[in-house]
Amino acid sequence: MKLRTAPRLRAALLWPLVAAVGIVAPLTWFVANAPLETGIATLLLDTVELLLPQAARATELEPRETHQVLRELGSAHAIRITLIADDGKVLAESSLPWEQMLAMDDHGTRPEVLAALSAGSGTSVRRSDTLERYFAYAAQTFRGADDRLYILRLARPLEQAHLLRRNLAAVLLLAVASGLAILAPIFWWLHRGFFQPLREILQGAGRLAGGDFSVRVESPPSGELEPLAASLNHLAEEVEARIEMLASERNELREILGNMSEPVMVTDPSGRVRRANAAAENLFEDAGHVFGRQASELDPALGTLVARAFDSGRAESAELQLGCPEPRAHAVLASPLPDGHGAVVAARDLTDTLRLAEIHRDLVANVSHELKTPLTAIRGYAETLEDGALAKPRVAAKFVTRILEQCVRLESLLGDLLILARLESHGMTEQPVPVDLSHAAQQAVDALAESARQRGVALELDLVEGLPRLSGYPEELRTLLLNLIENGIKYNREGGSVTVELTNHEGRVELVVQDNGIGIPQDALDRIFERFYRVDKGRSREQGGTGLGLALVKHAVRIHGGSIAVESTLGAGTTFRIRLPVPPP
Ligand code: ADP
Repeated sequence: MKLRTAPRLRAALLWPLVAAVGIVAPLTWFVANAPLETGIATLLLDTVELLLPQAARATELEPRETHQVLRELGSAHAIRITLIADDGKVLAESSLPWEQMLAMDDHGTRPEVLAALSAGSGTSVRRSDTLERYFAYAAQTFRGADDRLYILRLARPLEQAHLLRRNLAAVLLLAVASGLAILAPIFWWLHRGFFQPLREILQGAGRLAGGDFSVRVESPPSGELEPLAASLNHLAEEVEARIEMLASERNELREILGNMSEPVMVTDPSGRVRRANAAAENLFEDAGHVFGRQASELDPALGTLVARAFDSGRAESAELQLGCPEPRAHAVLASPLPDGHGAVVAARDLTDTLRLAEIHRDLVANVSHELKTPLTAIRGYAETLEDGALAKPRVAAKFVTRILEQCVRLESLLGDLLILARLESHGMTEQPVPVDLSHAAQQAVDALAESARQRGVALELDLVEGLPRLSGYPEELRTLLLNLIENGIKYNREGGSVTVELTNHEGRVELVVQDNGIGIPQDALDRIFERFYRVDKGRSREQGGTGLGLALVKHAVRIHGGSIAVESTLGAGTTFRIRLPVPPP
């Protein structure tokens, strides 16, 4: 936007000039065109009338005397007097001596004479051919003493009139010049002190109105406009600061929305999406762009929810299947914005929550079931004892041993559950420490050597020299080794073998636990890492298994950032292969 000084204000400086010209121009015109000369000529006509009696008397005299009288009369009145006969001949002339007068040409054709002859009197203003000067003439006819018609002509030189005109013009010019000389500094002062700063202020205001908030007006030299400039600058600063604040708030909001993993959309009052974060765009990835679409187009149920929020004027929530191509359960909240500006729609993916809830439900069911068996057994033994078995020491001793066995089983079940709970909650608050896996493997093999010997299973450890240390959790790695080796021993047959091998594999430590035991059926391979899953429940229980061992192994591998793979052939044996990352040296 461009702001200009009002045209009338801009012309303000010219007003005095216009006034001066308005006064001086007609004056000059009047001076230039004043009928000064004709006025003088008319006045002369009055004088002619006054002198007529004397002229008439002079006609009675001798021509030379007549001339003399007129000469005296002319010098007395400081005027040129000419007496002309009706035929145009000059009879007397006050400005010339007698001889020269005689040489004067015929004056019958002079305009004032012609006018007098035709109308009785006449005037003219012109250059005299006789004296070669400008004169105002006035002539009048009269009857002389001899009853002849004469013309008395008076002439007054115009030098003085011309001088007067020149003087008047000079005075006018001087007035204009001095007027201008006085006005010029006023103009300059007004221009510098008022109009120029005003123009700058208006330019600044124009740029401000056009969105350039960095504009600052320089403080004007004179104080009059300074408060205006200061106010404008203050306004610009305020607006700039506010716009910066709004921009940073908007960027923050965009950043927050962009980094949110939950889909968030903002709709206009008609339910059309006018803002959507990346998560929202991803949710409906296969449906095309979310921005600019109606909520109902993205999902009819979503549209209904938004409409409900608009109708009720408060936040409405619902569990909806959202997403394209694969809809997933979402908790969706639609809240209307204040003043009917639209609505904010936020969704939270419930898949993980629902899955976790299901896992926990299963866990509770499984745990109850697992606990129930030993507890039922303990109760059965205790009741039998109570019913009289206590009196039979041999029977009683056998039952007490069974009760103890079930207690051990309960203990190991609870122990595994506690470890699992700890691993699953990912509560590894302690820092990882350097772990020598060779040493840990050696300890595990030593701990299980006796059990292997009892079952007639050969246990071997194969280590390479100089294996790098891991960064990890010693207790979890110990559980991992014990469970894998123990399984190899448990699900084996007499004469079988278990080999534990540790090698360096492409910058990772590879642990291979291989047995030639009973093997795992192919369809069970996917499930053995599930909690409480056992291929053969009876055998597992018989072996003191809880069904939690491999679940623990899997979690231990996960928290170390490693990978686990299993190969098995039913009746031929099983191989577990675990790779764990080594921290850079
Ligand atoms: P359990 O306490 O029953 O041993 P695990 O989670 O350690 O529980 O193992 C789950 C199931 O996987 C076992 O019940 C068993 O059927 C099978 N299994 C695990 N390791 C082996 C193995 N080395 N050989 C054969 N079967 C195995």
